[in-house]
Amino acid sequence: MTSHPKLYEGKAKILYATDDPAVLLTYFKDDATAFNAQKRGSIQGKGAANCAIASHLFQQLELKGIPTHFIDQPSPNEMRVKAVKIVPLEVVIRNIAAGSLCKQTGLALGTVIQPPLIEFYYKNDELGDPLLTRDRLFLMKLATPEQVAQLQIMALKINEILTEFFQNCGITLVDFKLEFGVDQNQQILLADEISPDTCRLWNQAETDPTRRVMDKDRFRHDLGEVETAYQQVLERVLASSDKVGEIQ
Ligand code: UDP
Repeated sequence: MTSHPKLYEGKAKILYATDDPAVLLTYFKDDATAFNAQKRGSIQGKGAANCAIASHLFQQLELKGIPTHFIDQPSPNEMRVKAVKIVPLEVVIRNIAAGSLCKQTGLALGTVIQPPLIEFYYKNDELGDPLLTRDRLFLMKLATPEQVAQLQIMALKINEILTEFFQNCGITLVDFKLEFGVDQNQQILLADEISPDTCRLWNQAETDPTRRVMDKDRFRHDLGEVETAYQQVLERVLASSDKVGEIQ
């Protein structure tokens, strides 16, 4: 690990300063939490798997014109990122109904959502990350109308790119959560991570609703073989990234 000053420790990652104020170092932990940290545990190899998966996905997105905070991955659990001011919103994109959407609306698990649903949640652990309305978001000045419009466009484009990428891995991208940051030039960059911790991913080779799950739902709902699922996502993402590299 690094000897740099720790700036922040979250549930799954630690953020360190570096010698360059424009650069931060993120350390991905094996710690896992669910249900607003009421369930805690550890998933062996998760930190390195998520760090590699997120690094590859950020690079794929950059290739397709999405600005991200990713710089490089100096070691298995570490990612160097551009320092940004995080927008306090969790942007969730849903292609298929699952999780809280089913619970709150009664929609059946697996219902296809077309066009994809984009939702904004307030990134606030104490309040339990509540779902926001546009009016509440503006009332609380969490982002400007221009920023929200841009987040919406970026989220849809990222969804298109990732849906196709995971399709090539034999995986359905059910839903996922994004976070964004603003750099010194007021440019919005995709930040945080994209990994089985933050996405629902279903193995297309399986129809059984338990066996198909390749993401943190295995941990949330004690489905077993959590480590294996993360490693399988990693293997497929690496294989698919290699293929994209060969074509270019
Ligand atoms: N998600 C996340 N962090 C959160 C909440 C949700 O990464 O704090 C992801 C979650 O993994 C899923 C998507 O966002 O891929 C939608 O989650 P949902 O609102 O259904 O909440 P959940 O059922 O996970 O509580």
